[in-house]
Amino acid sequence: MRPVERGSWPLDAQGTPRAFAEYAEARGELIARLGEYCSFCESQLNASLAVEHVLPKKPNPRRALDWDNFLLACVNCNSTKGTKPVRRGKHYWPDRDNTARAFTYKADGVVTLAPGLTGPQQKVAKRTLELTGLHKLPTKDPKASDRRWMHRRDAWGRAERARTCLAACDTPDMRQCIIEQATALGYWSIWMTVFSADSDMRQRLIAAFTGTSAGCFDMQTQPVARPSGAL
Ligand SMILES: [Zn+2]
Repeated sequence: MRPVERGSWPLDAQGTPRAFAEYAEARGELIARLGEYCSFCESQLNASLAVEHVLPKKPNPRRALDWDNFLLACVNCNSTKGTKPVRRGKHYWPDRDNTARAFTYKADGVVTLAPGLTGPQQKVAKRTLELTGLHKLPTKDPKASDRRWMHRRDAWGRAERARTCLAACDTPDMRQCIIEQATALGYWSIWMTVFSADSDMRQRLIAAFTGTSAGCFDMQTQPVARPSGAL
């Protein structure tokens, strides 16, 4: 899960924090800050991205118009998360923690817990997968509406083919073309994983996906503990 920086509360023309009459008014600013990606499954969506409330708005009406409670989510992640009770400390969050340290992405589209997590960290990471439904396993049901795993598997295949092309023709232009393909498709974590041995490509991916928290990585692009985060 890509760690992101939502940034401070947007200001109006007078320089005062902008008041949102309804949460949908924040969508454009969120997209400008975070890119057109679901904050949880990382799919790229140029439509149907909803303003996501970290703490669900029903049990937390005072947070319904709170910039610091907003992310972006696709229909699958939004509806899976729904109004399940949420406490910030019980899950990992892409705007607070270094969620790049929590999960491992695999070629078959499955997301699992990252190795090296402590027992308590494993519990938090597992709850995060269950909250968003990212733990769901592939199904052969052609009617299945939740096809996130399949899209991850497809993205993995594209990333691998791009890596093969780069090995055959390693030029700055090729690297830039691959970054443009990656940002158009989404699934930052998968591109980062497939290019795990290429720190130049990983630097480019961190820089090119709008809103990625650069402070979550060291000079070699390895994830580090996020200041003030729980991971
Ligand atoms: Zn999603």
